[in-house]
Amino acid sequence: MPRRLTARDIMDKLVSFPTVSRDSNLDLIDWVEDYLDGHGVRATRVWDAGRDKASLYANVGPQVEGGIVLSGHTDVVPVDGQDWTSDPFTVTERNGRLYGRGTCDMKGFDALALAAVPLALERGVKRPLQIALSYDEEVGCTGAPPMIDEMVAHLPRAAAAIIGEPSTMQVVTGHKGGAGYRVRMRGFEVHSSIMHQGVSAVMEAARLIDWANRMNAENRAAAPGPLAADFDPPWTTLHVGMVQGGTAHNITAKDCEFLLSWRVVPGESSEDWGARFLAEVARIEAEMKAVRPEAGIDLEKYFDVPALAQEDAGEAERLTRMLTGDNGTHAVSYATEAGQFQARGYSAVVCGPGDIAQAHQPDEYIEAAQLAAGEAFMERLVDHLCR
Ligand SMILES: [Zn+2]
Repeated sequence: MPRRLTARDIMDKLVSFPTVSRDSNLDLIDWVEDYLDGHGVRATRVWDAGRDKASLYANVGPQVEGGIVLSGHTDVVPVDGQDWTSDPFTVTERNGRLYGRGTCDMKGFDALALAAVPLALERGVKRPLQIALSYDEEVGCTGAPPMIDEMVAHLPRAAAAIIGEPSTMQVVTGHKGGAGYRVRMRGFEVHSSIMHQGVSAVMEAARLIDWANRMNAENRAAAPGPLAADFDPPWTTLHVGMVQGGTAHNITAKDCEFLLSWRVVPGESSEDWGARFLAEVARIEAEMKAVRPEAGIDLEKYFDVPALAQEDAGEAERLTRMLTGDNGTHAVSYATEAGQFQARGYSAVVCGPGDIAQAHQPDEYIEAAQLAAGEAFMERLVDHLCR
């Protein structure tokens, strides 16, 4: 029998697959499936529509309720234009840090979860470990929901889901949710000397973007609600990350496109913010059409992720606090798949090795000590499942 792979061995292997979200993750999924099969564990794939990506889930141990889901994503953000000291897809150790794309976010955790599989089998867990690996997390958490739906339908119900996004092994019990729209402004071109007869898509876009500015100022000025106080910042934020439009300084722009998204604190609803946004879109569009009926605004929602709400006496929180000894209060402003598990009835927390500050960066790394802390966590988790 070959030597059992350590978490470090598995992480090195996972990082070697350049699973940037825009590309296929199937080479990685093949490898994971073979690995699990080598331990007698049958995994199930959930394909994307184009069949060039898949997520994977598996039940390790007895087919009974009360197990623990370990959830990670297999995709990583691109390295384009980033200045890396060493090959991003080869894990390289320097000064106690393990460098490589995805070491921190979040193939380090994926590796820990997979390394726990033979441990769970050997120690004879009484309740199962359930592995859940998704794709397309980094482009709006769109890969996980169909996988979670299948897990709900086909696996014995787990008592808790641990989403291993980098939290330096702290127990994160809340995160913001949100949604984002691709906004296409359709203007009408005329010479800018007679701009009152045209519609500038750029200048109309500016009005909608400035609505986001005004909402940010209002939200910031208001007193934070009780559920929002733990967040940084403790208010809902609206953001425009990309904008492009126009062809010349003296033509009213025919087209302008931008991405507008919001991150909503618990206690407010993303749907309500969506309604306010759509009302503003309708108001501006009516004014554009009053000048030129051809003008208008087209919308396409590109992500919609539920918040992770603080649970009342949640099992995931109780368990991870017990396993980590962390009793602090932690809430984060980025979205994860934890909200999607919670929305489907799982008790969920975010808890994983590495620091979010290193995620998505050139020279992304995880401290070797964080990986070791993750291994110790998995040992305690497996022991817990044996009791
Ligand atoms: Zn991540």
